[in-house]
Amino acid sequence: MAPVAMRLAAQSLSDAQPVPFWLEDPGKPGALPALTGTEKCDLLVVGGGYSGLWTALLAKERDPAQDVVLIEGHEVGWAASGRNGGFCAASLTHGFGNGLSRWPGELPKLERLGAANLDAIEDAVARYSLDCEFERTGEIDVATEAYQVEELHEWYEEAERLGLAEGLTLLDQDAVRAEVNSPTFRGGLWDREGVAMLHPAKLAWGLKRACLDLGVRIFENTPGLDLVSAGAGMAVRTPYGRVAARRVALGTNVFPSLVRRLRPYTVPVYDYALVTEPLTAEQLASIGWKNRQGLGDSANQFHYFRITADNRILWGGYDAIYRFGGKVQAEMDHRPETYLKLAEH
Ligand SMILES: Cc1cc2nc3c(=O)[nH]c(=O)nc-3n(C[C@H](O)[C@H](O)[C@H](O)COP(=O)(O)OP(=O)(O)OC[C@H]3O[C@@H](n4cnc5c(N)ncnc54)[C@H](O)[C@@H]3O)c2cc1C
Repeated sequence: MAPVAMRLAAQSLSDAQPVPFWLEDPGKPGALPALTGTEKCDLLVVGGGYSGLWTALLAKERDPAQDVVLIEGHEVGWAASGRNGGFCAASLTHGFGNGLSRWPGELPKLERLGAANLDAIEDAVARYSLDCEFERTGEIDVATEAYQVEELHEWYEEAERLGLAEGLTLLDQDAVRAEVNSPTFRGGLWDREGVAMLHPAKLAWGLKRACLDLGVRIFENTPGLDLVSAGAGMAVRTPYGRVAARRVALGTNVFPSLVRRLRPYTVPVYDYALVTEPLTAEQLASIGWKNRQGLGDSANQFHYFRITADNRILWGGYDAIYRFGGKVQAEMDHRPETYLKLAEH
């Protein structure tokens, strides 16, 4: 980075607040009491991120009579589920290009299942009145170099060949800049149906409320310490108690699994994001973006940009940082060199 650009980037960060933007919301619900004593249930879910919350919700939808308990080590949604980019994508393969290179034979089926999944999420958002700023705007993969434009054309042609191009629109330079007026954009591929933008923490908090409404018993600040066989089922010990269950579902993501042999297979990767202040009406008008799509960098699938409900620009990714030993620790929540790089972007 040129010294002047670096100075400007550093200056722009000088009064930034180093907090996960989405979690700093007045709508954040209070924590539920921790588990004390002994509990019994049909299904115990460990982890209160999307995986655990959707598992508990679907279990109750399938059989309302079953007793479902969810334990969360901190607070529901505090981890990745409450601090991500909020791109709720149909793709099960992290993008069409990636799917094409890895599972070309199965891609039509994967795309079909992914689309059905996103539709089901949208239905659940409406059914449970999940107030999570859900906007099905789609996403544009933008190209800033000629070779990327070519690649977008190739993806589009391949999608047509597989009968998967419905909802996709190729944008030339003028068309992409009519959507979002960046002088760096040379083309784009807009997937109009396959992505929704949302407030990730509000989705987690909404799912928590929906689970409670269906009768899921949730205990926060209740880490599961170990998982052991108990009679015909299993039991999880917690700091102040124990839960015995016929079945246990683990939704613990990158945290050390209660099934120890799974631990070597978990690879925690950190990525970071910056958020501006809300744009003024003039600033917003100067860049367009009236259709509010998510934007993805076609050169780097972990580099994303979006606009929030209150018209801030959030952008992140680019770096995907793996720390030796696969550690997940609070002091890794920040990475000044990545913030500087993102500020320059
Ligand atoms: C910066 C960033 C941006 C991202 N952007 C996107 C995006 O735009 N779109 C997208 O689809 N994905 C995105 N992701 C990924 C997405 O956030 C995660 O894949 C998803 O949230 C994982 O949900 P989860 O429930 O599996 O895990 P988590 O949300 O991490 O939840 C796991 C929970 O389990 C709890 N837990 C762990 N161990 C125990 C235990 N022993 N006892 C009790 N509780 C325990 C933890 O406290 C935690 O709350 C992003 C991630 C990050 C970090």
